[in-house]
Amino acid sequence: MKNLYGLKINELEEYFINLGEKKFKASQVFEWVYKKREFNIDNFTNIKKELREQLKKDFNLNLIKIKKVEEGIDVKKYLFELLDNNYIEGVLMHHDYGYSLCISSEVGCNMGCKFCESGRLKKIRNLETYEMVEQIILIEKRENIRIDRVVIMGIGEPFDNYENVINFIKIINHPKALALGARHITVSTCGIVPKILEFANLDLQVNLALSLHAPNDEIRNKIMPINKVYNISQTLNAIKKYLEKNNRRVTIEYVMINMVNDSDECAYELASILKGMNVYVNLIPYNETNNFEFKKSKRINNFKNILLKCGINTTVRKEFGGSISGACGQLRSKEV
Ligand code: SAH
Repeated sequence: MKNLYGLKINELEEYFINLGEKKFKASQVFEWVYKKREFNIDNFTNIKKELREQLKKDFNLNLIKIKKVEEGIDVKKYLFELLDNNYIEGVLMHHDYGYSLCISSEVGCNMGCKFCESGRLKKIRNLETYEMVEQIILIEKRENIRIDRVVIMGIGEPFDNYENVINFIKIINHPKALALGARHITVSTCGIVPKILEFANLDLQVNLALSLHAPNDEIRNKIMPINKVYNISQTLNAIKKYLEKNNRRVTIEYVMINMVNDSDECAYELASILKGMNVYVNLIPYNETNNFEFKKSKRINNFKNILLKCGINTTVRKEFGGSISGACGQLRSKEV
């Protein structure tokens, strides 16, 4: 039995057509679940009773639960409990333009980045599409807000759960569902090359971010095991192919870790490998956690100035999580 929040509108249209019903019933159901946020199928009053009974046999609207909330300045972090008692998290950030929500894509993560809390706990399973959609629905309902931007940068590697993540993007982007503009959705990957190439061909117009974090294979091999599968040159070539197909600037994420990847030489080397690409670098202040020896770099501004001098667009990510368990995966790993 499928959750209604995991269904694309065309799938629901097909369902109704197969029942010998009009396909606009799908729009009516979407109106109930996305616009009116009605979680009880019995209350879909413009759908006749027998059809509601049939819907209840075929679908559910079971909700994941918000188990815990931690609050900081301009940021709230949510621990969600899934129906099978697994935990994931989401982070809501308040910017001047509105709210952005960082959502999880998997329970745990197998990518094993050495500095990342999420990867300490191995992947248990993919998130279902509805579990991603409901992170948005539940937070909007609880906070009584509309979320303007969604970033898939929480626990998990989205391209390791490719199909469900793409369905999720299509659903939240659809005008009859959440109508979130493609340009307001960002998916972040550690660099799964075949999926970057597949994604390039989809023409979804959503933003792509690559977690690069190192200017050469020697350093990247030490902190990101994925680099032993797809090295920097293979990864950047995939990004170049993506850029040929999509005229959308790609974000290069670079987490600044003390004495690991923050030297002047690293900055010059990074500038040289990115030269001429339609990308910008987002420097991420490292969020320290108790479980690793890594420390936050104090050289962020210096690093940024070198990149700028070399003609690379560079920004520094606003810090949110510091006071609360802000590092990706921290809240879950405390709970588990
Ligand atoms: N797996 C995807 C998305 C989830 S991680 C990816 O790798 O892009 C989201 C981003 O947060 C990645 O750039 C990741 O490297 C970074 N990150 C992980 N732990 C961090 C920490 N403690 N401080 C700062 N950034 C961190």
